[in-house]
Amino acid sequence: MPHWMRMTQQLVFEAPRRGKPPRHLADLDPAERRAALASIGLPSYRADQLSRHYFSRFLDDPSAMTDLPVADREHVVAALLPQLLTAVRTQTCDQGDTRKTLWRLFDGALVESVLMGYPDRVTMCVSSQAGCGMACPFCATGQAGLTRNLSTAEIVDQVVAGARAVARGDLPGAVGTGRLSNVVFMGMGEPLANYAAVVGAVRRLIAPAPDGLGLAQRHITVSTVGLVPAIDRLREEAMQVTLAVSLHAPDDELRNTLVPVNTRWPVGEVLEAAWRFAAMTRRRISIEYALIRDVNDQAERAQALAKLLRGHLVHVNLIPLNPTPGSEWTASRRGDERRFLETLRAAGVPATMRDTRGREIAAACGQLAAD
Ligand code: SAH
Repeated sequence: MPHWMRMTQQLVFEAPRRGKPPRHLADLDPAERRAALASIGLPSYRADQLSRHYFSRFLDDPSAMTDLPVADREHVVAALLPQLLTAVRTQTCDQGDTRKTLWRLFDGALVESVLMGYPDRVTMCVSSQAGCGMACPFCATGQAGLTRNLSTAEIVDQVVAGARAVARGDLPGAVGTGRLSNVVFMGMGEPLANYAAVVGAVRRLIAPAPDGLGLAQRHITVSTVGLVPAIDRLREEAMQVTLAVSLHAPDDELRNTLVPVNTRWPVGEVLEAAWRFAAMTRRRISIEYALIRDVNDQAERAQALAKLLRGHLVHVNLIPLNPTPGSEWTASRRGDERRFLETLRAAGVPATMRDTRGREIAAACGQLAAD
């Protein structure tokens, strides 16, 4: 079909709120922010004020921005701080220290984020896409397919909403720790399939105040199924972020079924890209491995995984599978989990069992927004 015809079809048949999310301060770098303000006739120093309100004070209410002339407030906010996320529902567990929020985006698409308070850190798990196109059969998000990519600001705004909740004292366990410190791209979506927006978001997260949130680069984790060219591209950005690779199987035969994109970039190529990344950061690659009963938790697979990883800068996170409704797969037996962990450790591969926050609110991996 010719391009113009497809465009016409979209115009005629698709929902009215199609198109790009509104432009937001967090989409722009500092120079672009100044230009955006100049274009609505405001002095460029307002850009810093606005950035400080948003990234340091987490404000989105113009009436609290008392250093802006009253006449300008609404104008500036309408131009650069449109509301991107509307909370549909928030659920909490772990005595309030895990908070899952379902957000509606401007076009009705739904995503979720999960805020987790620990004694020494506060972690926000963000979505990078509405849905996901990777089709991993054990993952609830993978079942629904991809709706769309999120914009940079739609990703950043999830983190700012989390920072605002922490600042308000919404996480009882984090009163004292105080600040949101870590971000993991482990919500809905494959971050490296939405490369430009995700890298843009990381840049806003790590930019020092007033330009961004000022988070430590190594406190940001980008998790991927293993899109090799995008891992290499991310390496070339030379940001000291943590790379997590969702491996889930040491052999191509099984991984082809658990992570279908493996047929394009097999285990060996993914790990080579991961080691190249580790050579740049000089820090450990996180290997994610969801243990699925009698599927990938056998002793031989633990040994095969150990053999692949031994001697590399790596840490294995074993995750008890969160069964998704309707799937015949379930978590491993406790004994098999222990054996898997011990086999890795005995081979000199650092490994831990991930603590699974938010199980009872279906905020665990891969269950976001499924219902
Ligand atoms: N697309 C990215 C990030 C999103 S998911 C990725 O695949 O890495 C974050 C992690 O949760 C991934 O390791 C994913 O494989 C894992 N996961 C998904 N569904 C899960 C489930 N039902 N139980 C346990 N882990 C799951």
